[in-house]
Amino acid sequence: MKYLKGSNLIVFLTCITLALWVLSKNTLSDISQTPLRSISQAFSLVGLLYMMISLILSTRIRFFEDMMGGLDKVYEAHHIIGSISFVLIMHHPLLLAIQAIPHASQVVLYLFPSSLYAYNLGVVALYIMIFSFLFMVVFKLPYHLWKRTHQMLGFAGILGGAHALNITSDIAVYMPLRYWMMGWIGVGAASFIYMLIFYYRLGSIYKYKVTRIERVLDIVNVYAQPITRKINFKPGQFAYVSFSNKGLGSEQHPFSFSSGPEDPELRFSIKMLGDYTVSIPQIKKGDFMYMKGPYGRFGEVYVNGTKPLVWIVGGIGVTPFLSMLRFQQNLLNERQIEMFYCFTTREGGVFTDEINQLTMKKKSIHVHEWCSTEKGQFSISQIETILHQYPDYDVQICGPGPMMDSLQMQLEVRGVSDDRIIFEKFQLI
Ligand SMILES: Cc1cc2nc3c(=O)[nH]c(=O)nc-3n(C[C@H](O)[C@H](O)[C@H](O)COP(=O)(O)OP(=O)(O)OC[C@H]3O[C@@H](n4cnc5c(N)ncnc54)[C@H](O)[C@@H]3O)c2cc1C
Repeated sequence: MKYLKGSNLIVFLTCITLALWVLSKNTLSDISQTPLRSISQAFSLVGLLYMMISLILSTRIRFFEDMMGGLDKVYEAHHIIGSISFVLIMHHPLLLAIQAIPHASQVVLYLFPSSLYAYNLGVVALYIMIFSFLFMVVFKLPYHLWKRTHQMLGFAGILGGAHALNITSDIAVYMPLRYWMMGWIGVGAASFIYMLIFYYRLGSIYKYKVTRIERVLDIVNVYAQPITRKINFKPGQFAYVSFSNKGLGSEQHPFSFSSGPEDPELRFSIKMLGDYTVSIPQIKKGDFMYMKGPYGRFGEVYVNGTKPLVWIVGGIGVTPFLSMLRFQQNLLNERQIEMFYCFTTREGGVFTDEINQLTMKKKSIHVHEWCSTEKGQFSISQIETILHQYPDYDVQICGPGPMMDSLQMQLEVRGVSDDRIIFEKFQLI
C-alpha cells in the first residue's frame, strides 16, 4: 500500500457506491433482516467497482502515471485493487448460497449453471475467475501464458458486469445506482477492449531500424535508429519494445533506454533471462524495432532535483543509470553522486568501462564497484561512512527484487524516509 496514492479517491468511490446501495433499499431493515444477503450485495458492488478500476488502471494512460508517480506504482495499485475485487466477488455467490440453505434449488442457482441466463453470466464469470486464479498461482507460467490467463480475469469481470446489470436486484430498480454501475462497467469494458485489441495498433508507435547488435556474456546491446519519428524520452525511462524478427514473435517487453536521449543511436541493453530474452541474439541488423512509450519517472529526481544522490545499482539494473550518465554530461558536474555498481563476478560488471569513461573527468561523482564474490553481499552498513558525509540525500535503486527490498528496509531503519528512496522495478507483474 506504500505507493498507493489515490487511495483516498478509491475510498470516496467506495462510499458513493455503498451510499447508493443503501439508498436503493426502502428501509434500513431491508439490510438488517437478511444480513448475509446484504453483505453479499455490498461485496459484489464494491468488488465490481474495484474490478473496473483495476481494468482502467491497466491502460497505461499517462494521467495515472502522473497521479501515482510512475507506471510501476500504477501496476502495484492495479494488482492490489484487482486482488481485493477478486476476494469480494468470490464471497458474493458463497454468501448468497449460505443464506439460501436449506433451499437446495436456490443454493444450486447461485453456484451452478441453470436455465436463468442472467445468473449464468455470473456463474460463468465465477468459474473463469477461479480457474484463472488457480492456474496462475499453481503453475509458474511463462509470461505470454500468464498474460493470456490474466486477460481471462478481465473477461470474467465484464461477464460479472453483464450479470449485475441483468439480474432483478437493487441495480435494476434504483436508477442512480444502475447508471453509476453502468458507467463503471462501460468504462471498464472499454479499457479491457482497448488493451486487448487497440493498444498495440493505436497511438504513437515508434518504428526504428536495428543498426547493430553487440553481445557481452549474457547481455545483448541492441542499437537502432528512427525510420521517421524519434522517440522523445527522458533518462531513466523505458518503453514497451517488440521486433519484426520472426524468432521473437510480436510480444512486447519493457526495457529501459540505456542510451542518452541525445545519443545518435538508441540502445537497449538486454539480459538474457527467460524464453523471450534468450532469443534476443537472433535480432539482425536491418530488423525493425517498435516502441510504445516512453514510460516511467525514475530519472526525474536526477534531472530535476538538487540533493546529493546515492545510486545503488544491481546487475542489469544499470540500464537507467547509463541513460542518466549519458544525458547532458554537464549535469554530472553539478550533482554530488555516490554510485555503487554491484555485480556478482568481475566479468559480470559488463558496463564498468563505460561508466568509468563517462565519469572519469567528473569530480562530483564517485563510482564504487562492488563485486560480491570479492567484498561480500552489498549492504548499507558497509557504506555508512560514505553516507555520513551527506546531511541529506536521495537514493535511487535498481536491481534484483530481493536486493531492493532488503536495501529499502536497511535504509528505513536508518531513518531514510520512503519519499527519499526511488526504485525502478524490473517486474511490473
Ligand atoms: C520498467 C522495466 C524496465 C526494464 N528494463 C530492462 C532492461 O533495461 N534490460 C533488461 O534486460 N531487462 C529489463 N527489464 C526486465 C525485462 O522486461 C524482463 O527481463 C523480460 O521481459 C523478461 O522476459 P522473458 O520472457 O525473457 O523472461 P520470463 O522468465 O518469461 O520473465 C521474467 C519476468 O519478467 C517479467 N516480464 C516478462 N515479460 C514481460 C512483459 N512482456 N511485460 C512485463 N513484464 C514482463 C515478468 O515479471 C516475468 O516473471 C525491465 C522491466 C521493467 C518492468
